[in-house]
Amino acid sequence: MTATCACGQASITVNAQPKMLGVCHCVNCKRRTGSAFGISAYFEKSDVVSQAGGTQKYTFWHDAQAHEQERHFCGKCGTTLFWFVSTLPDQVGIAGGCFVEQGLAEPNYSVTDGKREPWVTLPSRWAVWAE
Ligand SMILES: [Zn+2]
Ligand SMILES: [Zn+2]
Repeated sequence: MTATCACGQASITVNAQPKMLGVCHCVNCKRRTGSAFGISAYFEKSDVVSQAGGTQKYTFWHDAQAHEQERHFCGKCGTTLFWFVSTLPDQVGIAGGCFVEQGLAEPNYSVTDGKREPWVTLPSRWAVWAE
């Protein structure tokens, strides 16, 4: 499966299903995506087959989840494509919405659910964390 940025010059390819697949409603994910929530797909770093195109990065302290995060984004179109979380040293997070062609399985959890937009309704079978 390949995740590709909006302009198409940067991509990352994995050969496995995500170990964790959920959505996050925190303020930072809203700003990062320009949308109501972010879709985060976490893979083992060893599942990454290739990474094409140039990315730039920034590091910040994610207050809502108390970890440091290094985000890699396309230097041309700005799409955040993948990231590393200090508390998950063996994993890489990939922006779930960027897996367009093959798609992803249904997510199964919602974090920072307390900040979920009131008009967003998610399946009741998902696990929910308010913070
Ligand atoms: Zn791009
Ligand atoms: Zn978030």
